[in-house]
Amino acid sequence: MRIGIIGCGVAGSVLAERLMQVPGISLDAYDRLPPGTAEESGTGLNVGPNAMKALRLHLPARHDAVRAASLPWRRWFIDLADGTRLFDLALEAVAEDAGIRLRWSELYRLLRAPVAPVTHYGLHLVALEEDAANRLVPVLEAADGARLRPRGYDLLVAGDGRYSALRALTAGTAKPQLHGIAMTRLLVPEAADCPFDDYGQWFNGNARLLAYRLPGGAAYIAGGFPLASAEAEIPAEAKTAAFQRALYTPEEAAACPAVAWMVERLAAGVGNIHWARLQEAPLQRTAAAGRVLFLGDAAHAMVPTLGQGATQAIEDGIVAGAVLARGGGAEDVAAWRDTRIEFIRRFSLEATDTMFPGADPVAGSLAKREPDFQAKLRRLYTDVPRPEQFLR
Ligand SMILES: Cc1cc2nc3c(=O)[nH]c(=O)nc-3n(C[C@H](O)[C@H](O)[C@H](O)COP(=O)(O)OP(=O)(O)OC[C@H]3O[C@@H](n4cnc5c(N)ncnc54)[C@H](O)[C@@H]3O)c2cc1C
Repeated sequence: MRIGIIGCGVAGSVLAERLMQVPGISLDAYDRLPPGTAEESGTGLNVGPNAMKALRLHLPARHDAVRAASLPWRRWFIDLADGTRLFDLALEAVAEDAGIRLRWSELYRLLRAPVAPVTHYGLHLVALEEDAANRLVPVLEAADGARLRPRGYDLLVAGDGRYSALRALTAGTAKPQLHGIAMTRLLVPEAADCPFDDYGQWFNGNARLLAYRLPGGAAYIAGGFPLASAEAEIPAEAKTAAFQRALYTPEEAAACPAVAWMVERLAAGVGNIHWARLQEAPLQRTAAAGRVLFLGDAAHAMVPTLGQGATQAIEDGIVAGAVLARGGGAEDVAAWRDTRIEFIRRFSLEATDTMFPGADPVAGSLAKREPDFQAKLRRLYTDVPRPEQFLR
């Protein structure tokens, strides 16, 4: 079987590694960027315990390499901006594995390294054709405009992210649903004096900071605050030091040391902040009568609230690899994945409640202590299929 992977990010790399040594599968991967580059590489991320469980069970060498380059994510606390504690969870109460915290550039480097022999860089998908055997032929364009039609594939896999060209060409452009929340991300490279370590969140009204330390003495600060309406653009004045300072500084009490530290870093680094709006896209798993399979953000871009975007891209790569390795197709991947994905998308949105205008962040954070929320977290962090489940 000939499989072509378009986009060698998180899902594409994991799938390629899982399939590289499978007899009877011939594999090529294509990515538009040259090696060593990635759009997100200037920030950090946390990867959930469930992705680490999936890697540990199915790709142990990749698990060990990624864990060695990361700090463990073992705790999640929520405070008000004055330091009042609302929620404090040891992840081992709801997970079998620790999550991780690392830089995007490190994650991409580690996932792409083993699949370099099958990856062709600097080529982006621009069109699709069919060969005489009814196989899809990707039309790939190089930076100089040259076009390549490598061969026909029995299955083309979209690992090309939330603006997937393969999805647009075969299923139409996915219309994003915006939720009226601005998201900021800032990497602080020198953070030796940072007064926190593991994953914390701090609320000032509905504005929320989220931060943790990263390997190499860095820290990562993500912010989120409501916009005027669901479809509103981010106003220019939000991108100023004064606005960022006022957004997270409580009016009626002193900011706790963590918030005071972050506010200064945001103000000083305001020009380096990455900006986005909270959004998701409808789930689409297959197209072209099962000849195209969507994975990761190409299939199900989701709100980042529970840190499940890259985490689910890893699970997708692992499960799709196990299904395809045993002779299954795109529809079988859908059967294995989509009930879980729908649950995670609903749960991620539900957990965003505290950030919507008018919502009560205190009540919302306290509710996360309740058994119902914790049971959902346990399902999220542990419900990963084992390799034996794919044996026939
Ligand atoms: C504000 C924010 C914060 C986030 N924080 C987290 C977090 O803490 N934890 C987490 O798990 N997730 C997080 N995410 C989500 C995460 O970024 C994505 O879910 C994840 O990267 C999806 O992986 P992927 O493999 O589907 O796509 P990507 O990792 O985006 O990879 C897509 C690849 O396809 C290539 N490509 C694109 N178009 C083409 C084309 N036409 N031809 C060829 N190649 C192409 C790109 O170069 C890239 O290598 C966050 C997202 C946002 C917006």
